[in-house]
Amino acid sequence: MRLKLYCNRYGHFKDALVCSVNCAFRTRCNDFALFYDGHRAEVDALVSDYYDARRGQAEHAPRAAGDSTLTRIQPVARPEEMRKLIRLEVLREMAESFYIWIDKEDRAELLETADVLRRAERGQKAKSIYRVAQEMELRYQLVPRKRIEKAKRVAEAAAERAAARRPRRTPAPAPVPFPAPVAADDSDREAPAPRRTRARAGR
Ligand code: SF4
Repeated sequence: MRLKLYCNRYGHFKDALVCSVNCAFRTRCNDFALFYDGHRAEVDALVSDYYDARRGQAEHAPRAAGDSTLTRIQPVARPEEMRKLIRLEVLREMAESFYIWIDKEDRAELLETADVLRRAERGQKAKSIYRVAQEMELRYQLVPRKRIEKAKRVAEAAAERAAARRPRRTPAPAPVPFPAPVAADDSDREAPAPRRTRARAGR
């Protein structure tokens, strides 16, 4: 199933791939920000597959003719360079201290404080030592996180305004049955239930 969203700027449905790699409004667009927030994994995979196909196209030029994705995207506009879509994101803050030890041969190792001190005690020397504060990962970042938060706030405010404008429903009067029920004749009234008499004690 293709990932599609309604584009309020152009007034029709757009393929998420077109938004991701072709649209100049991508990073400022609320429609895409909200869609990306809900389908990040799928959209990232779509973009990744697209660039994989482009790489394949470069290696095997004749393949491009039969590639419907490429023929659909390329005539629209010039696709963004992949590098522009990739960002380094913080995966986790390092609570404990880790160090990158660079040795004389420029090999890097990730060490804890105790390991660094142990090596120093043994007389080993590092060419450089760096303290690690964050673990990072490379990801597509088609919409900055702050932009997604802003789009959510705008959408919530619009929904609240729409709810306030909606007329309040007053409960409808109960329907009157037709023909209206007529009061029953006294003779037809149900006889009152016989009163129960208490059995006298001692009987
Ligand atoms: S990124 Fe936004 S403006 Fe651009 S095509 Fe997609 S929905 Fe439309």
